[in-house]
Amino acid sequence: MPGAGVGDIRDPQLAEPAREAAELGLCEHCLGRCFARVDFGYGNDERGRILVEEHDLETTTPEECHVCEGLMGRVDRMRDVVEADLAGWAFDTFLVGTRVPPDVLEREEMVWEAIGAEDTESAKSELNREIGKQVEARHSGIGRENWTVEFDGPDVNAVLDTRFDHVDHVHKSLFIYGRYRKHVRGIPQTRWPCRNCRGTGCTECGASGLNYILSVEDLVAAPAKQATGASEATFHGAGREDVDARCLGSGRPFVLELPDPRRRFVNLDVLRRAITTCAAPAVSVSELAFVDKDAVSEVKGHRGRKTYAAEVAFEDPVPTETLFKVSDMLEGTQVAQRTPSRVAHRRADKTRHRDVTRCLLVHRRDDGLQARFLLQGDAGLYIKELVSGDEGRSDPSLAGLLDVGARCTALDVVDVGGPSALDATIRAEE
Ligand SMILES: [Zn+2]
Ligand SMILES: [Zn+2]
Repeated sequence: MPGAGVGDIRDPQLAEPAREAAELGLCEHCLGRCFARVDFGYGNDERGRILVEEHDLETTTPEECHVCEGLMGRVDRMRDVVEADLAGWAFDTFLVGTRVPPDVLEREEMVWEAIGAEDTESAKSELNREIGKQVEARHSGIGRENWTVEFDGPDVNAVLDTRFDHVDHVHKSLFIYGRYRKHVRGIPQTRWPCRNCRGTGCTECGASGLNYILSVEDLVAAPAKQATGASEATFHGAGREDVDARCLGSGRPFVLELPDPRRRFVNLDVLRRAITTCAAPAVSVSELAFVDKDAVSEVKGHRGRKTYAAEVAFEDPVPTETLFKVSDMLEGTQVAQRTPSRVAHRRADKTRHRDVTRCLLVHRRDDGLQARFLLQGDAGLYIKELVSGDEGRSDPSLAGLLDVGARCTALDVVDVGGPSALDATIRAEE
């Protein structure tokens, strides 16, 4: 690390290489950088000044410097550019990087080689540190936004192109955990581009480019993008329910990933209300919390049991005792399910084995043609096929055991389980 070297910058042995370097026409910064890892507690310009005094050398102004051609004289200006650019963003930690003209880096290498210097530091590294240090110094203490330099995963990476005084930033993505409930049928979880035009817009989709106008993703993401200033958002759900199924109970966990957010400090209670207002009455959210990136895989990888309420219609009336009997038979059984015919066009055709852990008859219509069941099973259990049998592709099934045609007319997810915000490593909230 520069500034933490060993040895003595006043060591007489440095006289010769320092004189050789100075004779090439260097500024104090560029002279000092030849010995950046000698001694500690000095800036490179201070090292340069000490060498000048000790060995009676001469340096140039940065503008006349053979190596940097004025670059090192513009640190204050570059600091102002970076500072002005960061001022539009809300964050805690940052790191400054620079793009330095390659010819500067080539010339300094040649100087080091000529004088045999080994304890050097590049102009790029000095600029990164000096600009960062100065910006940080101007943003600490009471009554200011506090900006702290952070090397390991800063909120903002600001990269200054020193030739054009242009700053590019990459803001670390923001991850917000939550649970959503879908109160109405007919809404997909994520955006569903029109199959006909693949999202560009056509007469079939009314120029929207979407198969469904609304999605949980859009309803949740729009207010979050507005609050954080992120231009995009990615929705990661803990599994998904069918478009025509509701998702009730405590809701389904999700993580919303917001790349490049302009504002990191969002009041999540305000955001929750904004989402619920915007999405009402279709969707509501709860338990919003800042989480780190790992929460995405934790939520997506959730494979817990799920509970459903299924409304079932029978082709012929079924007596109550028979319904109780087949409920008992299904509970605790393992079902072999071939990929349902309705999704076979987009999923591999194979047979999966899933446990039905609960099957409870909760209501039977008097005519025996309709009933409601609570069903609990392994993640990935296809409920509609468990009811209908899917022409023998699901076995056993409710229809098969009854020997009566049966189909699921309405499906609600009533419990998804899944990691809570606490499991998903909450980022400390301000
Ligand atoms: Zn210089
Ligand atoms: Zn279309």
